[in-house]
Amino acid sequence: MFMRVDKLQVELPAPTRQDPNAGAALQELLGGKYGEMSTLGNYLFQSFNFRSKAKLRPFYSLVAAITAEELGHVELVSNGVAMLNNGPDNDGDKTDGGDIADAPFEDMKDIRLAAAFFSNAGGATPVNSNGQSWNNDFITTTGNVVIDLLHNFHLECGARLHKLRVYETLTDATGREVCGYLLVRGSVHAHAYALALKQLTGVEIEKMLPTPNINLDKIPECAKYLAEGSHRRLYTFSPNDYKEISALWGNGETALPGDPEGELTVVEGMPDGGKIHQLTGVPSAFTPDYAPEEMFEIATKLYKASRK
Ligand code: MN
Ligand code: MN
Repeated sequence: MFMRVDKLQVELPAPTRQDPNAGAALQELLGGKYGEMSTLGNYLFQSFNFRSKAKLRPFYSLVAAITAEELGHVELVSNGVAMLNNGPDNDGDKTDGGDIADAPFEDMKDIRLAAAFFSNAGGATPVNSNGQSWNNDFITTTGNVVIDLLHNFHLECGARLHKLRVYETLTDATGREVCGYLLVRGSVHAHAYALALKQLTGVEIEKMLPTPNINLDKIPECAKYLAEGSHRRLYTFSPNDYKEISALWGNGETALPGDPEGELTVVEGMPDGGKIHQLTGVPSAFTPDYAPEEMFEIATKLYKASRK
């Protein structure tokens, strides 16, 4: 089962301007072929379907623990998309939708993913950068451990390629931070699946890394994560379970050549994380409604009652 924590896995800087086309680019990392919905979906169902879980414990635990991290990546990218679609943080909710007869959202008809405004009010959904739905065909769960792990290795390298390309299209701090953090974490996952495959097959597939062949130190947004050793860390995302991943991630293995040196370590639990930015209401777009005062009052009373 799963536990939910009301935080993002990392702190994101607020956008300096509204940029829905940057939000659309970032959608590729959510609902694209190699996006976070795909990594989540693959590991989620592979972990459910895993045969001989007890006998193959370190391998099962690896897929299961990374599943939880990927769910947090879906959350992180979705927040990044919504932040870019909505613009800078602001002080508080407006409570008046005002005169809507003057085409207040005229610009929105020209954005790349117009449905992101019309249907989703600037929120994210599992679609790619062209609005095509993410779908089940992006999931591979064969029941064969080597084939599934090999697929996961390919998936993480493919995800790395997509993140690099999306990164190259972005100038704003929010989208670049999402890419920088996920590049470090995705590189960890590619490395982890490679080490698992090495244990099972003897093939030192980690020697193919990094793929694409660019070190993380070329990306300024990765620097602080490398400095704090995020590239050497794998989380269990559980208070008590999945500790066996240390048999694969650790066990004398070290950081990849080209990354800052050191031992690989398992952290029991999850990252400290960062705040979820408020998406304040836009009454003229009917979010949370055109005239939400009564709604706010009801919620305030309920909140106070819950704290007694
Ligand atoms: Mn991910
Ligand atoms: Mn990953």
